Amino acid sequence: MKNYKFKSTFLMLTLSSMLFFSCSDNQEGDVKEVEPSAEEIEQLAQLKTIEITLNSNDKMQFDKPEITVYEGQTVILTLVHTGTMPITAMGHNFVLLTKGTSLSDFSKEAMKAKDNDYIPTDESNVIAYTKMIGGGEKTSVTFEAPEKGTYDFLCSFPGHYSIMKGKFIVK
Ligand code: ZN
Repeated sequence: MKNYKFKSTFLMLTLSSMLFFSCSDNQEGDVKEVEPSAEEIEQLAQLKTIEITLNSNDKMQFDKPEITVYEGQTVILTLVHTGTMPITAMGHNFVLLTKGTSLSDFSKEAMKAKDNDYIPTDESNVIAYTKMIGGGEKTSVTFEAPEKGTYDFLCSFPGHYSIMKGKFIVK
């Protein structure tokens, strides 16, 4: 009897964890942020410092296609690698480019800069970047939001930018 109870509990736990994993799997790749209310936007805009968490994973994905900050704010961006793969196989960073910089041209230059964490030695097209991290790691960078406009961000690990990119919007 006891043994039976144990088994059914175990089965339920197994089932619920399977459900949990299948749910989280469905959400990946199609991340929809909840739109903040007008009041929340007002509050965010008043902040002197805005903290952003950008997650990345073993599937070569960022969890945010868009990041919004406000002019004059200090941005503390934390990049988290939620995967388990090593930096040599699935390294990720966050690189914010100056307006009008071509992602493909930048990535070509970045590929040549393996010894410099895949950041081109000429940093004139870079506003801010984090170090490269592997699975289970996180890192932060603090920078001043640039002038109002829309900028591109990407991961500069070779071959990642076509998927790992997004818009950095300064309002
Ligand atoms: Zn990457």
